[in-house]
Amino acid sequence: MIEKKSMRTRIAPSPTGYMHIGTLRTVLYDYFLARQSQGQFIVRIEDTDQERLVPGTLESLLKTFQTLQLDYDEGPVLMDDGSLSQKGKFGPYIQSERLKIYQPYAVELVERGHAYHCFCSEERLTKMREDQVAAKQAPKYDRTCLELSSEEIKQKLASGESHVIRMKIPEGESSFIDPIRGTITIQNSEVDDQILLKSDGFPTYHLAVVIDDHLMEITHVLRGEEWISSTPKEIILHRMLGWDMPTYAHVPLILNPDKTKLSKRKGDVSVESYLKKGYLPEALINFLSLLGWNPTADREIYTRSELVELFILSKVHSAGAVLNVEKLNWTNAHYLKTMEEGTYLEWCRPWIQTLSHDRSALDQAALLVRDRLQILSELPALTQFLFEDKLNHESALLLWKTQNKQEAAERLTAARHFIVGLSDDLFQSVEKMDSAIRAWIVQRGWGNGEVLWPLRVALSGQKQSPGPFELLVAYGKDRALARIDEALTHLV
Ligand code: GLU
Repeated sequence: MIEKKSMRTRIAPSPTGYMHIGTLRTVLYDYFLARQSQGQFIVRIEDTDQERLVPGTLESLLKTFQTLQLDYDEGPVLMDDGSLSQKGKFGPYIQSERLKIYQPYAVELVERGHAYHCFCSEERLTKMREDQVAAKQAPKYDRTCLELSSEEIKQKLASGESHVIRMKIPEGESSFIDPIRGTITIQNSEVDDQILLKSDGFPTYHLAVVIDDHLMEITHVLRGEEWISSTPKEIILHRMLGWDMPTYAHVPLILNPDKTKLSKRKGDVSVESYLKKGYLPEALINFLSLLGWNPTADREIYTRSELVELFILSKVHSAGAVLNVEKLNWTNAHYLKTMEEGTYLEWCRPWIQTLSHDRSALDQAALLVRDRLQILSELPALTQFLFEDKLNHESALLLWKTQNKQEAAERLTAARHFIVGLSDDLFQSVEKMDSAIRAWIVQRGWGNGEVLWPLRVALSGQKQSPGPFELLVAYGKDRALARIDEALTHLV
């Protein structure tokens, strides 16, 4: 086996909202690479754009990592008492706590002629952009301040004139090999003279990201494809500072079924909302890992350690991946069906605890619908009837195909008589109940549907529900008979 050089990967979210599911997929790929190479996975918070910050979102991002049990090696940590601490030797991992670090690099770049002071006012820049758009040109800084003499610059600085520092994009082209997309080359003439340091002394994302990726010894930068246009700036900055570049890989977008970019308007985009709906962390992780990548053609279920072992960055597809909710539901249902019974019940209890004080009845209800459950939030609706005193049956629903009320009532009455005579041990076993009732139906010369349909609806009141044998066993004789009696009152 080829020894893999250990990788240092990072996710660098800005605390402006909940974790997007696209971010989670990138997190997973970061995590797989770090774990499979015995490297480190780092969480860094990019909060230099103070205007966009949303209070509380840093905590919710970190909480999501905890809920998903995605352990990272370095970064901010949310403590039990709600306070923040940080782990790792390259900290602090929150950019607003690193401000002192960035400025000297911007100054160094100016001194070395790779960056320059720009004193243009917001009004001038707006006008410039409007003119460029009107002339059908891509908006780009026109380098007016590059014409200033060093004397003029000195004077302006001395008089405290508001200014920013911009990078001076050199001529030529910038090229990098993206493991997912192959070689990407961008003409530098298309790249704007990016602001590195803002007038308030804060670094922009572009300066901070390059410095931090370097100082934190990041080897692989994975991020969404919307960042491709930023990469040339980062490559150029690395070169200007004389640093080795990390590998940049841009993961594809996640799309709606109509191939548009997944957006809040068309459905859920936050990991939080999926968890709240009752998707299991393992199912979400399994599903999202396979959006745009699959190690084999014939399997959809992988454990986390299999994913770590099998993940290959260059096998991620470059085309956008459609989020198929049915497949997500199927995956979630698989995990619900196959986990240990005790774990399953622990997941279920909070969802239905208000239906009854009787914990064993709740557990029984959860087990009864386990085969049909896809998302935990469906549990209350699927099990509620079990706890109702009356079902208020819809009479039309009690009728099998062309059956009329009288026929349904006859079958149900006959079934009632038969059930009255059943011994207690049949109410302990679904299989025994099943064979006893089926044998009786055969003996009466009836079809299954004409008896079992009205019986099942009598017991559940539902169009879809667990089968009649399961329900008979779940209720026990007396409650089952009461349900049948109630149904019969709707068939007169
Ligand atoms: N802070 C950027 C974001 O919010 C990170 C981009 C990157 O990974 O370089 O997505």
